[in-house]
Amino acid sequence: MSQVSEVFAAEDLTKNGEIFRALTPPARLSVFGDPVAHSASPPMHNAALLERGLPLQYVRVHVTPEELHSALRHLLQAGFLGTNLTIPHKQAALSHMDEVSSEARLMGAINTVALRDGKLHGFNTDGPGLSAAIHEKFGVSLGSQRVLILGGAGGAGRAVTAQCALEECPSIIIANRNPSKGEELANEITKHLSACISSIQMTEEELSKALENSDLLINATPLGMKGDDPSPLPNGLLKSHHLVYDTVYSGGQTALLLQAQKAGATSANGLSMLLHQGAKSFEIWFNEPAPLEKMRKALKS
Ligand code: NAP
Repeated sequence: MSQVSEVFAAEDLTKNGEIFRALTPPARLSVFGDPVAHSASPPMHNAALLERGLPLQYVRVHVTPEELHSALRHLLQAGFLGTNLTIPHKQAALSHMDEVSSEARLMGAINTVALRDGKLHGFNTDGPGLSAAIHEKFGVSLGSQRVLILGGAGGAGRAVTAQCALEECPSIIIANRNPSKGEELANEITKHLSACISSIQMTEEELSKALENSDLLINATPLGMKGDDPSPLPNGLLKSHHLVYDTVYSGGQTALLLQAQKAGATSANGLSMLLHQGAKSFEIWFNEPAPLEKMRKALKS
């Protein structure tokens, strides 16, 4: 297999898709994003496809918000089985699907699209991916934890919050700079599920109080993606009994993970969430278990 590292354009799909069929093996899966060149999904999925002997490959397609609808609608004629969606398409894609899973609807976002019977089916594997990562890294089930989610009403945060509600966490606290966003989300989720969700503002006092009543802290803000980003949490609040999961997977130690280390708390970065959300997308497309260790190795390298 000669894997293609180039970034394709939405036009390549909307013209007639021949460019994808002409590759060896043909491209039949992708990630849409704007930007998309940074996406770590192609090597991870191509390793899985190779391991399973599936004669197709996964490519990056640069799709702007204006191009999203047309690019999605042309997947079928270009011979695709599905696509992943990354920034900024996860929320917008909801209205372009023919069918949406109930979980993705609750999460308000789609990261996985599968073409079935000529229809676009939308799923969200970020929430289940986070859950599997928490189990793998900390040896606990997400549903057993009292959780504090920083940026819990944002894009990824909403998937995390909804997953916690689906797994019936005993307490879910959403922290945002603007607490009304968290209140809106809590109201929306509790219309569908009986969950114990509250919303706080990201002030030192409120975070300190919330941490006293939490086991697991999850960072779902973008702070940490840039090397010089500060931590979303003031210094001195973490204790050694806390579990700290940073969804950021930039490679380096984020300021939050350094705080966790200093406090003697157990911590992990977002690479395991990336791995497990990818594995769950693979399972949606092929209805068979993903080769997790091959995918992990590809992500690490
Ligand atoms: P986003 O929507 O831009 O931001 C999420 C929330 O963070 C926002 O709603 C905002 O809430 C808060 N926020 C933003 N900037 C902040 C700041 N400077 N200080 C404090 N809070 C801030 O981002 P996203 O797309 O959800 O991504 C969030 C994180 O999830 C990123 O780090 C991304 O890498 C990670 N992620 C990881 C995976 C994985 O597989 N590991 C998958 C998806 C996403 P308020 O304005 O209300 O405060």
